[in-house]
Amino acid sequence: MKVVDLRRDTITLPDERMREEAFRAVLGDSVYGEDPLQQELEQYAAQVLGKDAAIFLPSGTMGNLVALLTHARRGEEVILEESAHIRSSETGGAAAVAGLMLRGVRNLSGIPTADEVASAVRPEDIHYPRSSLICLETTHYRYGGIIPPLENMKEIWELAGRLHLAVHLDGARLWNAAVALGVEPSVIAGCADSVMASLSKGLGAPVGSVLAGSEPFIREACRYRKMLGGGMRQTGWLCACGLVALQPENIARLQVDHRNARMLAEGLSRIPGVRVETDRVQTNFVLADISESPYTAEDLVNKLAGLNVLATAAARSTIRFVTSREVDAEGIAAAVEGVRSI
Ligand SMILES: *Cc1c(COP(=O)(O)O)cnc(C)c1O
Repeated sequence: MKVVDLRRDTITLPDERMREEAFRAVLGDSVYGEDPLQQELEQYAAQVLGKDAAIFLPSGTMGNLVALLTHARRGEEVILEESAHIRSSETGGAAAVAGLMLRGVRNLSGIPTADEVASAVRPEDIHYPRSSLICLETTHYRYGGIIPPLENMKEIWELAGRLHLAVHLDGARLWNAAVALGVEPSVIAGCADSVMASLSKGLGAPVGSVLAGSEPFIREACRYRKMLGGGMRQTGWLCACGLVALQPENIARLQVDHRNARMLAEGLSRIPGVRVETDRVQTNFVLADISESPYTAEDLVNKLAGLNVLATAAARSTIRFVTSREVDAEGIAAAVEGVRSI
């Protein structure tokens, strides 16, 4: 029986076209600016994100860390949502490598208001760390792929402008947000000075992320990428896949993942003991609350695995399902049936 893997969207494999393009890639040493496809990908990514320039990096974690290093100095403070990926899931790199303090802003919805962000900004005082950067995240990972409304992002962007703070957007799944909102990726990226976006999640490239921003920002970011060991050589094989990943039709295909997530949410919410806040199923994630069932999330995930359906225990009573192009409508139906039978 086929395994239905709803653990992550990073399981996506390069498609036939990516493999073909990678196979034919003309290669060069990218550290010396001699890999034609890395140059093409970086120019194209900048254009898609509406920024002056962009760089290709091996991961989103490195992209975010390079952005932090470029924007802020040691001892300064970064304001971000309390459970933002940069704070919760990047091994403390902001502190350990960049020497930054991270000030979490708490908001139960996962989306702090501009006022809440404003009240976390330190006044100029010799006792306080200096606030220098605000980080936003779309779609928000810990909160199940929800999308901060553009209005909210614009208000924070304007606030940052008034206070002379920079804004970095962790847009690992910015593509999902753009497709769900029906706007160009550049509209979302327009609410930040710099943006990191992943090629290796729903878009299906095997490796890589891009970081985009102004010309001087990216020139400096290039140095930090090299410092962190992200100066790779014949990257053309990877960048060929990245260029296919960024084609409009490949981005638009994320709608299918979103439709599958809604189908999964609706199916699960009809099962007694399972609760899904369907209005928070906005992209390719479904968080199912099973606190009214006899099981913990871990129990249920283990039982599901026995039925060849893979999901993640995200909290004691919360199961996370992530749709991707590796799971079709039939797989979704099998997952719902699996939970129902348990
Ligand atoms: C996955 C992810 C990252 C990091 O990307 P990697 O390529 O896995 O290092 C950063 N931010 C968010 C929101 C993510 O989901």
